[in-house]
Amino acid sequence: MKVVHKLEAAFEENRPVWSFEYFPPKTQQGVINLYDRLERMYKLGPEFIDVTWGAGGTTSDLTLEICRTAQSVYGLETCMHLTCTNMPVDKIDMALREAKDAGIQNILALRGDPPRGAAEWVKCDNGFANAVDLVRYIRKQYDDYFCISVAGYPEGHIDSEDKEQDLHFLKAKVDAGADYIVTQLFYDTELFLRWADQCRAIGINCPILAGIMPIQSYNGFQRMTTLCKTAVPEAIHQKLEPIKDDDQAVKSFGVQLAIDMCNQLRAGGHLGFHFYTLNLEKTTRLILEGLKFVAPVEKLRPLPWNPSKGRRRRDESVRPI
Ligand code: FAD
Repeated sequence: MKVVHKLEAAFEENRPVWSFEYFPPKTQQGVINLYDRLERMYKLGPEFIDVTWGAGGTTSDLTLEICRTAQSVYGLETCMHLTCTNMPVDKIDMALREAKDAGIQNILALRGDPPRGAAEWVKCDNGFANAVDLVRYIRKQYDDYFCISVAGYPEGHIDSEDKEQDLHFLKAKVDAGADYIVTQLFYDTELFLRWADQCRAIGINCPILAGIMPIQSYNGFQRMTTLCKTAVPEAIHQKLEPIKDDDQAVKSFGVQLAIDMCNQLRAGGHLGFHFYTLNLEKTTRLILEGLKFVAPVEKLRPLPWNPSKGRRRRDESVRPI
């Protein structure tokens, strides 16, 4: 099913939605652990899950494999990321064909990050220069088969010196056929709400999901916000500084901060939340419980196997509230 239809139906009823992002693990054991986690986190009722595409296509086979398993074995509506980095058109074609064959109907179309070690992003021969070209191509080749999402940047993309122009490039992606937007992480909710208003003001009317990256560790937070040049409100720095060497205190702060951010966004009329899970389960669960999106769960256990359906069965005892 197309994710955009789920989002539109929820927003029509004024119902909040949430989704989870995962990345392909580096080891086979990591993949097995991720499958267990996907199965347990199914109970948290994400509208969909998505899986990243390693910079430069380094994880393409595994991304596809995880997407196929999540969609067909675990019954999770799945969105596959696809980037233009080192991807000539024939490779893009192959990835889209394989996604379609795997029953995946949702693609997050991205330009991509530079490959590891490269300072700048460079278009490959016979490839695309920007995400908008990828969106156009998918629409041209597959018409309406895929639901396409694109990335949005509340603080402007790091390569872009002109935020207004960046916003117009975002509109170009929507005009080219993108169905909804998922944003880059941010920690300033007022900035996000202003940006969302600006999107609406220039005619971007599709659903927007706010990218929420809970703080899981002090070093990880510093690394990520430095890499993405994210604006961090002074109040967050002040609260983190005295607890930065206490991992558990940082995690608890991260959970409460994400709950507060989502509540502020809801108060501003925003209903869509996309969690960067970093493949971790507990933090996301605690946030959803804190938001009262799901009932408290003592421990998420795997679902019973239902051989007649060839897939895991929904455990009706734990449901979003
Ligand atoms: P674009 O929309 O193409 O924009 C890239 C730059 O080009 C911007 O500066 C923009 O202002 C400019 N631009 C856009 N259109 C034009 C135009 N027509 N002419 C001139 N300039 C233009 N990276 C990965 O490698 N793998 C992933 O799985 C992944 N997942 C992501 C998920 C989300 C939700 C987000 C927000 C980012 C993700 N990224 C991922 C990172 C992303 O690839 C980078 O931020 C990348 O630098 C830009 O991708 P984009 O699709 O936003 O590019």
